[in-house]
Amino acid sequence: MAEQLSNEFLSEVANEFGTPVYVYHAEKIKEQYHKLLDAFKHSNTRFFYACKALTNINVLKYIKEIGCNIDCSSINEVMLALHAGFAKENILYTSNNISFSEIETAQQLGVNINIDSISNLEKFGKKFGHTYPVGIRLRPNIMAGGNLKISTGHRDSKFGIPLEQIDEVLRVVKKTNLRITDLHIHTGSEIKDVEVFAKGIEVLFDIAQYFPELEIIDLGGGFKVAYKPGDEVTDIELLGKKVKEEFDFFEKKFGRRLQVWFEPGKFLVSEAGCLITKVNVLKAAPTTTFAGVDTGLNHFIRPMFYGSYHVIDNISNPDGEKKKYNVVGNICETDTFAEHRTLSEIREGDLLVFRNAGAYGFEMASNYNSRFKPAEVLVKDGKAHLIRRRDVLDDLLKNQIEIV
Ligand code: PLP
Repeated sequence: MAEQLSNEFLSEVANEFGTPVYVYHAEKIKEQYHKLLDAFKHSNTRFFYACKALTNINVLKYIKEIGCNIDCSSINEVMLALHAGFAKENILYTSNNISFSEIETAQQLGVNINIDSISNLEKFGKKFGHTYPVGIRLRPNIMAGGNLKISTGHRDSKFGIPLEQIDEVLRVVKKTNLRITDLHIHTGSEIKDVEVFAKGIEVLFDIAQYFPELEIIDLGGGFKVAYKPGDEVTDIELLGKKVKEEFDFFEKKFGRRLQVWFEPGKFLVSEAGCLITKVNVLKAAPTTTFAGVDTGLNHFIRPMFYGSYHVIDNISNPDGEKKKYNVVGNICETDTFAEHRTLSEIREGDLLVFRNAGAYGFEMASNYNSRFKPAEVLVKDGKAHLIRRRDVLDDLLKNQIEIV
């Protein structure tokens, strides 16, 4: 098991590279990947890292090095995956309301493609007919995921082709002689209940018979990790067993052995990453004490955007007396990371660590308030490597054209 990085080690990283800084632990990513391999070893399963969670090129290269495939949500992510050295057959591009020209580029690059609209499916069929295998992203009308913002498979979701339009899909497939090899769904993020995946399998098996060239059932991502001690997580061992049972049954019944694909994002990189920030100021207000830190929603928006909970550790004073704080950012917005949180006594200058920040942390960062994006560090084989330097003023001006 990958040992958690010690407080002393994280403090040294902060001292060497400054704050705020994202720190990723390579061996933890590998450990998570191996958990998946282990849980699904008896089924015909492939994993594609949903790289929207974190695309630092070193992380992508590492993911490739450990043998995992990659799932992309934009053509630029596909380009980054190729740059990282992934073979085209190990790259999946799952589209979502994109232009047909991006799909054409993906086809030229030779990667796997899931199409999520009837209009793009028809264009693809007209242009490529039976020559290029393609997947269909469906909306299974399943309500799942941690909250509505991260729930993508329900009746009002923009994602995928609604299941009730399957007749129209079949008409397009037949008319344009499409070669459908993959049916895809992604019902949401932070799915605790294995039955949600079972329901997804059931929905896709129900229509699989209409696609004689089908090879793959892609169930998307969404495995839940623990955000705080005692949190319920997806039981991947149970899911592994269920997948084996269901797909063995399908093979017996229809004489076809289908492959299963998953697209885990958070599961691979969430716990491997943390954000270290320094306390700028303490403000004792009548209702609470604010600990104002040197980061904000521009660097880590998940708590404000999704209401996500992140454990915060004061690594400068871990044994200090327990007190309550509101941990807030330095952005000119209400960017509250934690409210009335009991933490070890905070002093100005202390280092706080936000846990579970590897996924959708840096990736969603911006330069709002003209603040610099933070640095990123990858810890591998016990050594800390700077993998992205902190912005400098030139980065803020880089693409601007001064005409005044
Ligand atoms: N696949 C697709 C199509 C997604 O949209 C997402 C997340 O938004 C994922 C996979 C990864 O989800 P998670 O990070 O919850 O595993």
